[in-house]
Amino acid sequence: MSSSVDSRAADHLRRLAAALADAVAAASPAADAGEGLTFMEVCGTHTMAISRYGLRDLLPAAMRLVSGPGCPVCVTAMRDLDLVVAMARLPEVTIVTFGDLIRVPSSRTSLAEERAAGADVRVVYSPADAVALAAELPGRQVVFVGIGFETTAPTVAASVLEAQARGIANFSVLCLHKTMPGPLRALLESGETHLTGFILPGHVSVVTGTGCYKFVADEFGVGGVIAGFEAADVLESLLMLARQQQPAIEIQYRRAVHPEGNPVARQVMERVFEPGDADWRGLGVIPGSGLRFGDEFGVFDALRRFAVDPGETLEPQGCRCGDVLRGALDPADCGLFGTRCTPESPVGACMVSSEGSCAAQYRYRALDDADVRPSGPSEATHD
Ligand code: SF4
Repeated sequence: MSSSVDSRAADHLRRLAAALADAVAAASPAADAGEGLTFMEVCGTHTMAISRYGLRDLLPAAMRLVSGPGCPVCVTAMRDLDLVVAMARLPEVTIVTFGDLIRVPSSRTSLAEERAAGADVRVVYSPADAVALAAELPGRQVVFVGIGFETTAPTVAASVLEAQARGIANFSVLCLHKTMPGPLRALLESGETHLTGFILPGHVSVVTGTGCYKFVADEFGVGGVIAGFEAADVLESLLMLARQQQPAIEIQYRRAVHPEGNPVARQVMERVFEPGDADWRGLGVIPGSGLRFGDEFGVFDALRRFAVDPGETLEPQGCRCGDVLRGALDPADCGLFGTRCTPESPVGACMVSSEGSCAAQYRYRALDDADVRPSGPSEATHD
């Protein structure tokens, strides 16, 4: 990027920040009394972008931006992580997953430790790679760990259809997928954090469209803007939220998101999976907020194929990932942050995943100290 383009981009960000300060002042006359606006982002990629670009430094004092349950690996409940480990221990099973799950601690161990102890655990870049691996290893049971939201679930469903079409019987999926509207309702119903609006997830909304968020504005009087992932996208989305006269669901990320979403992707997902209850770290079981296999594809369900005991669930002492994921605690206020818990030696999932709030804050706090801030893209993950 040329320096003139850099400086134009910086000017644009400054103008957006100034407009945001004006809009927040106009929308929050009680800010002087400490009653500002609180917005929450619920997408791990947004969490990383906000930290990477240092956007909190540009926000007006009367506005708070908190992170919510947007990192798919982080919101996976400990018992479900224990199930993954229990499956990895089966001698006939090859566990296949994306890389960000490998080091996440379960109650007693992690997939990385299981692999070091002899378990067959492999990392892939797409669910289709897992189907290909199953075809290459007919003597093994290949289990893909399905974690992620509406962005990932259609590709996993497509891999199941591919395995069915190719007659690959040694492929199955441990389906831990979740869907995004459920936690928004749970957060709003709990009222624990008073929210003015949501920065809604860009990638998820490419698939879902806007309809699934309508209740946020209609029932709870809270606004939402579907945002892109550049610094200007996020600031512009915050500006749109601050300027809303009436709570509404709007799209800032118009270059990728359409109100109707992607019906073809949803059809693939809904053909293979049906809604089911899901256990969210920090939020507990939310009815209908997950995906499970319907009967037609039940033969690909790893939970039906293998009977495993996840054992007793043990949460790491002192870890406050649940509070962080509800926006009730800033990561730096966890007593373990940066001392016992670092990306090199993580205690909780939020410090391991590349999209975790604790990892984002730790990583870019260190860069702040060094006065360096990279502009490259973040890693591909589960969302
Ligand atoms: Fe958990 Fe570590 Fe985050 Fe604390 S800093 S909430 S221990 S991940």
